[in-house]
Amino acid sequence: MILEELNPAQQEAVSHEGGPLLVLAPAGSGKTRVVIARLLYLLDRYGWSEDRLLVVTFTRKAARELLHRISRLRPSSRPSWVGTFHSVAARMLRQQAERLDLPREFTIVDGPDQLQMIRDLLGRQGVSDKEVDPKKLAGRIGKWKSAGVDPVEAIRTTFGPFRVQAELYAAYQDNLALQKALDFDDLLLTLVRCLEQDPEVRETYQRQFEHILVDEYQDTNPLQERLLRLLSRDRQNVTVVGDDDQSIYRFRGAEVGHILSFPKEYPGARQVVLTVNYRSTRPIVTAASSMISSALARYRKDMVSTGRPGEPVFLKKLDSEWAEARFVARTIQEKVERGAMFRDQVVLFRMNVQAQPFIRAFAEAGIPFQTRGAVQGFFNRREIRDLLAYLRVSANPFDRISLGRILNVPPRGMGEKARERLDQQAGNPGLSSWELLERLSLELSGKARESARAFANDLEEASRMVRRGDGPFSLLQFWLSRTGYEQWVSEGESGEEGPGREENLKELLRMSERFGDGIGELTDRTPTGVFLEELALSQEDPGEAGESPDRVSLLTIHQAKGLEFPHVYLAGAEEDILPMKSRDKVDVEEERRLFYVAMTRARDSLAITWCLTRQLFGRTESPRPSRFLRDIPPEAVQGDRPVFRPETPVSRQTSELPPRKVFPPPSLAPSRPATSLRSVPEKRTSPPTEVLRPEWIGKTVVHPRFGRGRVEEAHGEGGDLELSIRFESSGVRRLLERFANLQVD
Ligand code: ATP
Ligand code: MG
Repeated sequence: MILEELNPAQQEAVSHEGGPLLVLAPAGSGKTRVVIARLLYLLDRYGWSEDRLLVVTFTRKAARELLHRISRLRPSSRPSWVGTFHSVAARMLRQQAERLDLPREFTIVDGPDQLQMIRDLLGRQGVSDKEVDPKKLAGRIGKWKSAGVDPVEAIRTTFGPFRVQAELYAAYQDNLALQKALDFDDLLLTLVRCLEQDPEVRETYQRQFEHILVDEYQDTNPLQERLLRLLSRDRQNVTVVGDDDQSIYRFRGAEVGHILSFPKEYPGARQVVLTVNYRSTRPIVTAASSMISSALARYRKDMVSTGRPGEPVFLKKLDSEWAEARFVARTIQEKVERGAMFRDQVVLFRMNVQAQPFIRAFAEAGIPFQTRGAVQGFFNRREIRDLLAYLRVSANPFDRISLGRILNVPPRGMGEKARERLDQQAGNPGLSSWELLERLSLELSGKARESARAFANDLEEASRMVRRGDGPFSLLQFWLSRTGYEQWVSEGESGEEGPGREENLKELLRMSERFGDGIGELTDRTPTGVFLEELALSQEDPGEAGESPDRVSLLTIHQAKGLEFPHVYLAGAEEDILPMKSRDKVDVEEERRLFYVAMTRARDSLAITWCLTRQLFGRTESPRPSRFLRDIPPEAVQGDRPVFRPETPVSRQTSELPPRKVFPPPSLAPSRPATSLRSVPEKRTSPPTEVLRPEWIGKTVVHPRFGRGRVEEAHGEGGDLELSIRFESSGVRRLLERFANLQVD
């Protein structure tokens, strides 16, 4: 049953018995589908219980989707180890907390808090922001960590100006340890160390996991790879799927060549090649595969279309970024008028700043949309960070950053002096927040003393509440009532616009309330801790766009990885945007892969736009069309032709660039020749209209917006099948079946 909806090569991967397996395959060829099917297959085949399988996805959204699909196929099944590397690591660390001398609810320090810590640290050491840029230091520390370099080694191996950074790294780590907190990179690093140094822990997990499956393997970094090796039994029980052409996280330490060395690292690995792109129409597949085949170094893979027809890729030149946004807005509306949903459509761009004109144009046109920035913006709001800090100190009594943040927020008479005293005390290891405040109170007098005591009592009580299992909603209510925070905000005392802030507070309360449901089964964690972890990890997650009602998504290409949308608009196909202004040729190659990822998100239609002028970072530019447009063959496109001025770099100029490197065919030949897949039956995708048409007429259908209606006429064929439907509510409408999202009643 599981194997039924798969082609032979996919079946081969899914039912592979024993030993490591690599599925190296192009976009849309069903790699993720294989991961899901293989999980179910293994459960069935061997009768393993769900917690014996570990599945690593690239985003938490992907993890949720996977769980959703599994629960649909098998309602009783609840795989418990499905998540990102970070969430899996966090879970294991909490299980091993005692051994690691961490409280179970250790804090996960997110980006803004990390910067705050670094700033405090620089302040204490008398280093100015100009000497050491906090953001750059955070980045540097991240690189050290992903490479598995600890502070001692960093200090030993760096000289000159970097030495200061290494020393600050050491101080930063000490500070984290004091607070019983880990940053994102620590999650992996600490776990890897623990597994390396503690055979007992290592064996526990190796015994537990019968099989490990990894999606989007091309973007794992060396540390994640190390983790994988430690968790697997002799590197045997591992399945990885990926596409070197979609490796786009080099800036986070992922390496494009990584996936290609899998057969070397996992001796005896079986390799399966998939070639059919089931996602996209023929023109999109042609355009994308020809674009990527111009890459300088890649493992050559065929990407074959199912033959599903569709409109050519639409190229459009616009005068400015405003015109670009308005053009996309218009097109989106046209599609909606013809029956598409807003949520079927996505605008992709290279840089977040590109979202601005779209946000304005969509607002003007009344197009509902969502951005990832909005989600992030919410968690960066001051009131949200304040309240989450209250929750964090409640869950982790050693969390000093959070305590520092809320010491006098809202004001409780503990000003600068109290703050300085707290900083002096804060270095004492092992003191809980309330113990710190008790000590502090002895050094204060009058009102400050009283309020330090009261705060200490509240903190101790909140900590008890967390431990006895009270959820985040109760905790938030506790703190709101004890601090008068809501009132402080609504009265505008905090000096920022009141109403929006109150709304934000309410939204956080709603979130925490919703979260309270269904958490009862987690016996080894506190609900408040789980809530905080969810929020912390969601901020590190590129795919966390929030579940969409009917809205157009505005996403960076990085955020769109692994996803698919019926209609894609790729904006800003310009030199210095895509490819981004680059430092070297390797970067340009990564940009090409980004372009490829963007194109291959589209199922039915793809439009690519570029502008003749653009305001960027306060300057007016006259960008040139992206060099990648040259590599899209004319037969797959319609619309404007990009005009390349002589100085536009040519991606294949051999005089300038290193010779192209195409990796040899797979060392382990797929057992079925890839060409045999070219004859995929077309019925999978667009059924011939001749057969379908009479079936449509007289059918009762339900449209998501117009409701119930009866099909009166059907014209055209394939992707152009147009239906005349008499809707009960709104009369006759002609809709393209392809866009209309109809359900047959
Ligand atoms: P990406 O590289 O973008 O992550 P992928 O290789 O993981 O893509 P999937 O997302 O698994 O591809 O599949 C792409 C689309 O093709 C999905 O809608 C999936 O349901 C569909 N699909 C995959 N295999 C088949 C098949 N054998 N028959 C019909 N549809 C399929
Ligand atoms: Mg996928």
